[in-house]
Amino acid sequence: MSREPSPQDLTAPQSSTSGSFWERHDKFPAEIEASFQAEMDRLREHRMVRTGLAGALLYGAFAISDLSMVPDVYQQAWLIRFLIVIPLMLLGTILFSRLKNLLMREAMLSVSLIVTGASLSLIAALSQHPNAVHYHTGVTLIVLFGNIVLNQRFRSAAIVSAALVVLYGVSLLQVAAMSAEVRFNNWLFCAAAVIISLIANFRMDQDQRRAYLARLREQQRNEELSNAVELLGRLSAEDALTRLANRREFDRRLSIEWNRARRDGHALSLVLIDVDCFKNYNDHYGHPAGDACLQKVADALQSVVRRSADLVARFGGEEFVVLLPATDAADAAALAERMRRQVSDLQIPHAASRVAAGITVSLGVATLTPGDAGQPPDLVAAADAALYRAKEQGRNRVVVAPAAATAAVTTAANATPAPPATHQH
Ligand code: GH3
Ligand code: MG
Ligand code: MG
Repeated sequence: MSREPSPQDLTAPQSSTSGSFWERHDKFPAEIEASFQAEMDRLREHRMVRTGLAGALLYGAFAISDLSMVPDVYQQAWLIRFLIVIPLMLLGTILFSRLKNLLMREAMLSVSLIVTGASLSLIAALSQHPNAVHYHTGVTLIVLFGNIVLNQRFRSAAIVSAALVVLYGVSLLQVAAMSAEVRFNNWLFCAAAVIISLIANFRMDQDQRRAYLARLREQQRNEELSNAVELLGRLSAEDALTRLANRREFDRRLSIEWNRARRDGHALSLVLIDVDCFKNYNDHYGHPAGDACLQKVADALQSVVRRSADLVARFGGEEFVVLLPATDAADAAALAERMRRQVSDLQIPHAASRVAAGITVSLGVATLTPGDAGQPPDLVAAADAALYRAKEQGRNRVVVAPAAATAAVTTAANATPAPPATHQH
């Protein structure tokens, strides 16, 4: 199958009125039909050994009957049964899984059934014994076996049944001792068995199609559901304007990295970034231009970060935050400085800035190694305090929180509440 069937394919089984009789019985569009047939064939293959052995066993069991029904030719009958037909049946059973072509498989089963039917007619024809006139009834069993147990595809079942019913009719004609009325009754019996078992075969086919369609639909619904869950997960973690991680995702990752750093004894750094004089920018250029500016700043910040564990997020409004696992204060400060320069290198004109001719940012850096005491917000508060000083000292600069500001939360002994976040930038 080249692709999975699409939802449109599954809306309704086709009820085309054009095409041949056989085409009208292939209710699915071609592609689904092919995958359905392949699945049915896998099922048949899976059951083939048991089905083939059951058939051979039943056919062989009638050898006992040969002694009383065709005693004059029972030896030939046994030769036919055990040296020709049963070996052919077993060979067909083995060959079935080797043959990869569906049409070949169908043809092989059909030929096997017709050969088996013909063998009974042959044995009956060889015998002169009066009981031999009842011998042909076996053909009816072969019809039932093919249509119901082998569960042949409907068209093969119909072709084989027609061949067997004709064969049966012809072999009845060879039995001189049988009256025309009995002959007709026997033949009608066989024809009725054909029709009954073909109806069963057709209904099984319909049921299998319905079950297959239900499975496909369920598969599709599961796929759609998992896509929707994935999309929802992505949207709930993403900031709509900048496409950076949002505050929720930042909080989640901060908690994870905090615990990891505490476990591994690594330093955890955080950079808080605030766009300078951004209210003025909005007032001067308008809110849409402000949005576009935030997007460019976000891209610039993201472009500086290289490691996959580092996370750039929108903290809120015109503030951003960068989480740097296993990064010491010196490396975090260097990264913050690169970010400051990256943003000012954008040279986004800012005529209303009190700092420079273009957009600039102020950055506060804090680093700590999480200990038993302290909580993730302590790290944010320390970076916020550093950012506050960067604003105080004239903006467009990086300020690193002094080690003393973060040391308090690294050891239980020195644990003191961190200063609350100001968020006044
Ligand atoms: P400071 O240099 O001290 O940081 O001054 P500031 O003007 O940048 O800070 P302030 O907190 O006074 O103003 C922040 C401004 O950021 C006000 C708000 O309208 C704007 N802002 C926040 N979120 C958005 C946004 O999503 N889009 C736009 N265009 N503006 C936003
Ligand atoms: Mg600001
Ligand atoms: Mg601010």
